[in-house]
Amino acid sequence: MRKTKIICTLGPATESAEVLHEMIAAGANIFRLNMSHAPHDWVRVIVPRIRAIARELDVVVGILMDTQGPAIRTGDLATKLNLKPGDIFEFTVRGERSEEEFSVDVNYDGLIDDIVEGDTVLVDNGVIHMKVLSKSGNRIRCELLTEGVMGSRRHINLPGVKVNLPPLTEKDLADVALGAEMGVDFVALSFCREPGDITVLRDVLREHGSNARIVAKIEDQMAVRNINGIIDATDAVMVARGDLGIECMMEELPIIQRRIIKRCIQKGRPVIVATHMLESMITNPVPTRAEITDVANAVFEQADAIMLSGETTVGKYPVQCVRVFDRVARRIERSGGAGYAADAILCEDRQKAVSAAVVLANSLPKAKIIVFTRRGTMADYVSNLRPAIAPIYVFAPTYETCRQVLLNWGTSPFCLPFDPNPLRTIGAAQNLLMERGHIASGDHLVIVSDLLAGFERFDSVQLRLVP
Ligand code: PEP
Repeated sequence: MRKTKIICTLGPATESAEVLHEMIAAGANIFRLNMSHAPHDWVRVIVPRIRAIARELDVVVGILMDTQGPAIRTGDLATKLNLKPGDIFEFTVRGERSEEEFSVDVNYDGLIDDIVEGDTVLVDNGVIHMKVLSKSGNRIRCELLTEGVMGSRRHINLPGVKVNLPPLTEKDLADVALGAEMGVDFVALSFCREPGDITVLRDVLREHGSNARIVAKIEDQMAVRNINGIIDATDAVMVARGDLGIECMMEELPIIQRRIIKRCIQKGRPVIVATHMLESMITNPVPTRAEITDVANAVFEQADAIMLSGETTVGKYPVQCVRVFDRVARRIERSGGAGYAADAILCEDRQKAVSAAVVLANSLPKAKIIVFTRRGTMADYVSNLRPAIAPIYVFAPTYETCRQVLLNWGTSPFCLPFDPNPLRTIGAAQNLLMERGHIASGDHLVIVSDLLAGFERFDSVQLRLVP
């Protein structure tokens, strides 16, 4: 059983029912809808399609809606601009016209207030570098530091600049409303900068009656500085290396990635490593050795999930990418992990009880952990402690909880109605696992539950031997 979860971004290469079938069969756990590119009509078609295939295959599959966030973009250009070092380039706002040969307008008027002379402006995913020389009126005058070709609607990054855009744009609000309506399981907050941004999204989700878990995307220097508060406020974290690798010094990226994974495991928050993991497989059927090592590193550090983006949206080999993830993850998991969970911070009594259960499971041969949980909290606690070998079978009374705990490392969720008599619920779970070949005679079952007994709720840890 693979412990590391696989997230695949959907796009033209993977939207058909046939490919979705193959992706799920190959091991995809969660599908990501990137709202920077996904029209609402498409979301309305793809979500029911995923759910129908998951039902047909009798597997739990989650859906993650990723907001565009406060992205700054250049406007339209009549022709592409060929730029070279030393050229002067002007960005304009509020409809201002430039006299310069090279210029473009920007979708964010506040840019003029946020940046100052000497700041760096990166365009087109960090390919074109410029330095701000001066500002006047509605024009920002820059000097080209690298050569490049600028097209229309390119993404702008401003390393180290505090951008005063709200955490959710009008577009994001409309997208989140749709996500709530479609019952997505996770909503990712792009360019999350501080804990308050998460509160804003949580309030919006609540207004729409959604319990979707929030994934804070860490993609700039401010988020890195505020990482502790963000981890406390969010339900999960994504190391969004695409933007993070532009906004921070590239040599810092591996250090930041490791620090975030470590901190998330200590504080008990699922963490996703994203972007460029198998980039060469967009066009090639096999990954580079460096890509395999990058995937292996994230798996060794025991990140909860690894994510595919362009590889599965427009790539030629989306199903093969999932197979590579699955193969590398299984092998690396067998070779051991970084063990960051040894420093997990246990605040609640329930976390301490769960910790005792994990110690017990780690000490027994052929141990399996079975968790009964309503909203997923007990399953989160078990997964956060990264049990050495024992798989974590999670039983919850709703599909919603099953899909949400799916992001957590090592979990296999099953939907099961809870009987008023907890012994019957445990018996039903045991039968289901036996029928599906997950447990066998002689296995040790470590059972973690907060089931009702009479009118009281007991947190309990039980040890059973399968007869
Ligand atoms: C990233 O920047 O790594 C990322 C996942 O975000 P997006 O794909 O929205 O740019």
